[in-house]
Amino acid sequence: MFRIFQQKRKCNVCERKLVLSYKKPELLKAYMNRHGKILSQKATALCARHQRAMTQEVGRARKMALLPYTSDHK
Ligand SMILES: [Zn+2]
Repeated sequence: MFRIFQQKRKCNVCERKLVLSYKKPELLKAYMNRHGKILSQKATALCARHQRAMTQEVGRARKMALLPYTSDHK
């Protein structure tokens, strides 16, 4: 049987044991595009748990004005 198994790769946050927090907006910025939008899970290659955590923390950071909602707000 020749089956191609998709290699199980840990997400970047799991692998490097990072802690996603609104207190580190520069880290969260890596998961946003230049317009300030949160990238999809396909683009970020995060696991479900960390994608959810990242989204939540970006939301918190936005409320505290650490991250922009969009690039249009000046
Ligand atoms: Zn992860």
